[in-house]
Amino acid sequence: MARLTQRLLKRLRNDFQLSIITLMSLFGIMGVSPYAVYRLAEGNYLVSAADTTIVFSTVCAVLYAWRTGDTVKPGIYLAIIFSLGATLIAINLGVNGLFWIYPLILFNFFMVSPGKAVVATMLVLSTLVGYALLVPGTVFESSYQMLSFLVTGLLASAMAFIFAYRTRSQRDQLQILATQDPLTGARNRRAMNEELKIAVSTHRRHGNSYGVLVMDLDHFKQINDKFGHPAGDQVLVAFVDLIKCCSRQEDRLFRFGGEEFLLLLPNTDERGLLAASSHLHQQIAQSLPGPGGPVTVSIGGAILRNNEHWESWLERADQCLYQAKSAGRNRTIIDGALHNPEQLPAQ
Ligand code: GH3
Ligand code: MG
Ligand code: MG
Repeated sequence: MARLTQRLLKRLRNDFQLSIITLMSLFGIMGVSPYAVYRLAEGNYLVSAADTTIVFSTVCAVLYAWRTGDTVKPGIYLAIIFSLGATLIAINLGVNGLFWIYPLILFNFFMVSPGKAVVATMLVLSTLVGYALLVPGTVFESSYQMLSFLVTGLLASAMAFIFAYRTRSQRDQLQILATQDPLTGARNRRAMNEELKIAVSTHRRHGNSYGVLVMDLDHFKQINDKFGHPAGDQVLVAFVDLIKCCSRQEDRLFRFGGEEFLLLLPNTDERGLLAASSHLHQQIAQSLPGPGGPVTVSIGGAILRNNEHWESWLERADQCLYQAKSAGRNRTIIDGALHNPEQLPAQ
């Protein structure tokens, strides 16, 4: 029990969106459901129905978010439901309902993209003001009150927008820093581990086949030693550009060591893996001239097996790379594939 609580708390700490949805659901159950009962007892069925919808939607959205880990769809759904509910309540209750618009503004900017939050918030504010102009004396008690509400609502939205926009762009930058290799722009080892785990779980759930090619540039140290580190760096950058250019769009390239790279190929069997690697050898021979002559690469490949752990999958590909190096470099060895001439690159 203590371990479960710890795990739940860890998820909440690591996932800001999930924590906001959870906070809203607790608040929905404890804070809004008494209102639903009170309004029902009072005979105000519309507001009671809006409150009940808010409570149910919140509970459903939070369950969905916890089960799937997806907070985007429940976030958009809740932003729509809360915006509609809060507008209805404010129209119905007047000033007493208007106070809910401020937490609604914050919620929208926390949960959905700044652009969508602006649209939702502007629709709420303009609906309230439009309704008040059409039916005077309903939402606001005076024009002065309406103007004050509009100014404070817009001010709160502008500040929330700036905050949300800044947070989002900083988060995107952090995401890039955490997952990208600064020299080549390829994804880094951390991203690779995550994607391999995702591939294993997708394979388990849906049976998709996955292959990996582990690539290591041959005699790379000599390039550094003879031509200097910057020349070596240039070869690494050119190598990544070339692989990105000649692999499929769904393939993912990672740099997981100095001159070691991994290409993850979804929906690929053994033949596909062989074809892809000999295509790479060809392209490298044609389009990757090093400062002192052609650069070559040794490749080890493996197809993910049923019920295999991602580390053992990687280990098998790594073993093949080791064999390719021992067999003379500039070649591919795929785990389990027959060692026929097709495995050797066109020289
Ligand atoms: P092998 O064919 O057996 O793979 O030989 P190798 O020389 O490629 O392999 P080794 O492991 O001996 O050397 C790898 C070199 O890669 C050593 C290291 O200085 C260099 N290296 C690692 N990271 C970088 C980098 O970011 N830039 C540059 N220029 N060199 C790097
Ligand atoms: Mg090497
Ligand atoms: Mg190496």
